[in-house]
Amino acid sequence: MTINASGWRPELGAGRDDGPATFTGNRALMLEEALIFEIGSTETTGVDIADVAPVADRLGGLARERAIGLPGLSEPETIRHYTRLSRQNYGIDLGFFPLGSCTMKHNPRLNEKMARLPGFADIHPLQPVDSVQGALGVINELAVWLIKLTGMHGVAMSPKAGAHGELCGILCIKAALEARGEGHRNVILVPESAHGTNPATAAFAGYQVEDIPATPEGRVDTAALKARLGPDVAGVMITNPNTCGLFERDLKDISDAVHAAGGYVYCDGANFNAIVGRVRPGDLGIDAMHINLHKTFSTPHGGGGPGSGPVVLSEALSPFGPLPFTERYADGHITLVEEETVGDRHPDSFGRMTAFHGQMGMFTRALTYILSHGADGLRQVAEDAVLNANYVLRSLEGVLDAPFAHSGPCMHEALFSDDGLPDGFSTLDVAKGLIDEGFHPMTVYFPLVVHGAMLVEPTETESKAALDQFIGALRSVAERAKAGDPSLKSAPHFAPRARLDETLAARKPVLVWKEPTLPVAAE
Ligand SMILES: *Cc1c(COP(=O)(O)O)cnc(C)c1O
Repeated sequence: MTINASGWRPELGAGRDDGPATFTGNRALMLEEALIFEIGSTETTGVDIADVAPVADRLGGLARERAIGLPGLSEPETIRHYTRLSRQNYGIDLGFFPLGSCTMKHNPRLNEKMARLPGFADIHPLQPVDSVQGALGVINELAVWLIKLTGMHGVAMSPKAGAHGELCGILCIKAALEARGEGHRNVILVPESAHGTNPATAAFAGYQVEDIPATPEGRVDTAALKARLGPDVAGVMITNPNTCGLFERDLKDISDAVHAAGGYVYCDGANFNAIVGRVRPGDLGIDAMHINLHKTFSTPHGGGGPGSGPVVLSEALSPFGPLPFTERYADGHITLVEEETVGDRHPDSFGRMTAFHGQMGMFTRALTYILSHGADGLRQVAEDAVLNANYVLRSLEGVLDAPFAHSGPCMHEALFSDDGLPDGFSTLDVAKGLIDEGFHPMTVYFPLVVHGAMLVEPTETESKAALDQFIGALRSVAERAKAGDPSLKSAPHFAPRARLDETLAARKPVLVWKEPTLPVAAE
């Protein structure tokens, strides 16, 4: 690989077939970008540093023998490097992001404005409680809303993502079982239609995970689940709406059976977007459920935006929830309960999930979102999300196999399979073809209950025009696959990189840049 002085790497454009090669490797204003170590020169820095006065070497022979190998760039070179890289990102602010189960929806800028208010942005978690009453008020107010929207008894605000919330809920279940002397219950039942994090969480918490099959309709096989209940079952983890995009209609019946058998019901509520304002999980007999603020309540995610996964808890599990939590007194003063022992409150807490109280910025954004929508607006979120998904499902079921279309309307996401694609064509080819059309692909090969799954979640924030464009693009790619168009096998053609060997990239990732040769430091 040749890298010239400016880091141009013309050969990187190889494999693309969208016109003649260029001198730089750039394609118009889509600029090629080398690694930061490969551009600039170690003679350059972004700051002016005065020469250091000579000092006696007191390192006892441990002085570095070679140059440290830091990249050397001027300020404009540095800014251009990162700006170019940032332009290669695809994000929700750039276009439709149909990743199923991820709820990639528009993040209203009002949320950002509120989160950046200095009174929220510039505080420190170790500040005295009296000096952060406003921030604690936000946490407390959000907690009240989450409890109200879910019809639950309490909420643990500190978990920092959906999967972290799952762990929090399962640890509550474990603590509750141990408190009543039934710590020997060691099995968690997880339906096939659950999200992959569910079995991972249960196993991480030390439970044996047992699968419960799905019905041909794409829902939990209730009879099989009930048949497995017994004195060794700690609980079940059910995703609702499930990853087939369907509402688990039997959930109340399942909860009653699980409770009668002495277990607890964990609900994966990451898909709350589909039912917020319409269904209260507490009415379905759920004991613990995480809510992804970064999905339903529109706090930014993807590309490293922090998550936040508060867990709502039933009356039975609330005493075991983690510390700290906020408490509002009659005089309006809010305190942060940090210890199990203070005044005998919360003696049964299983401990802490995080060092501090959770993701303050996400709390502020989520509360802003909730207050700006109000009760009727939140209900409309769910209704429009479901309407949009059904529009996608019904618009494409003629060209792509929709395995559960017969099960009635879907919830927030539309599921397709690779059934009907000709031999030699796969879900992956369809996804790669969508990249050439300028879309981030949908979720692929998940859920596992159908072959070659394609899961599309449009969310409520896409317009009909945007959906029509996506539907047209996906239809066109699917038709090309059905017609056996060989060019689809090597898509994407117009992306900065052509089709990658994803298996190799996943199995043998090259995560460390190895310096070619560095000059030996001068004596
Ligand atoms: C996103 C998601 C999760 C995991 O949430 P993270 O915040 O990514 O940890 C769990 N379950 C379902 C159904 C999800 O969609």
